Amino acid sequence: MNVNKLIATLAAIVKLWLFFAGAAGLLGACSCFSDTLLAQGKLNVMTTTEDLASIGREVAGDRATIDFIARGYQDPHFVEAKPSFILKLQRADLLVIVGRELEIGWLPPLIQQSRNGKIQVGADGYLDASLHARILDIPQGQITRAMGDVHPLGNPHYWLDPENGKIIARDIADKLSQFRPADRAAFQQRLSDFTGRLDAAEKRWLAALAPYKGTKVVTYHQSYSNFADRFGLQVIGYVEPRPGIPPTPQHTLDVINEMKRQAVKLVLVEPYFDLKTPNAIARETGAQVLVMPPSVGGVKDVPDYFKLFDYDTTLLIDAIKKAGAGR
Ligand SMILES: [Zn+2]
Repeated sequence: MNVNKLIATLAAIVKLWLFFAGAAGLLGACSCFSDTLLAQGKLNVMTTTEDLASIGREVAGDRATIDFIARGYQDPHFVEAKPSFILKLQRADLLVIVGRELEIGWLPPLIQQSRNGKIQVGADGYLDASLHARILDIPQGQITRAMGDVHPLGNPHYWLDPENGKIIARDIADKLSQFRPADRAAFQQRLSDFTGRLDAAEKRWLAALAPYKGTKVVTYHQSYSNFADRFGLQVIGYVEPRPGIPPTPQHTLDVINEMKRQAVKLVLVEPYFDLKTPNAIARETGAQVLVMPPSVGGVKDVPDYFKLFDYDTTLLIDAIKKAGAGR
């Protein structure tokens, strides 16, 4: 083989290699095609909150694509409607909502404008996750939204009890099975796995908080009723005079007096509220203000439902110790 022939052969090999590399690159770039093919078999699920998305992903695994509307650091009662939400809802096979009128201020027009028959209220693809959950703070007598109370059907922040997390997961698993009967066993298996892991984690959280059972706290909004009930905190008052009503000077004064009377040393505040009033209350009472996320995604260290309780229980225990707020 002379030199020229050798060069020509090498050049041909390089060309061939470049061709295959290029083709591989092209395939790599277009793996979207195979994803799209797979995605046709997948259910497209939308949830209103990150908490529901996290629980939904536990149950669905890779059999559904799950996206959400409200971010965990937003006040779920007041979410700014965006056109992108309508687009997401247009494509959904299933919409899972928190319910109890949590989303009533922003979700109905989005559902309507999506013109997606599958997820309209009452359709098969509309799941209210509160239906079987344990709901607290159900008002006695007549409460209407005209009074400004945003919890007229009981406390919608019920996901903050892992026991309700299991119930939400079961309802989602049942709904997914209804859409994909052939995958029922797989959903049930994932549900049982999730429930088992949550049971174990809940025992750990309960044990960690047990020494502080009965600790009295004030919270900004009525977000932590289920959390307090499960983990043994005693909520003696709220910075808001009613859920959804901003603090007033008279109510703030009442809260300060009550906190002094009962020696309350902790004010829990959701990340989306102004700290001015809580800080003023803390100054008057010697209490500590603790910003505590009530939702997955509330802070970046809380990417899923398990981490939410990991984070909050640790934060709370540290704060109770620091404030000397234990019983
Ligand atoms: Zn609320």
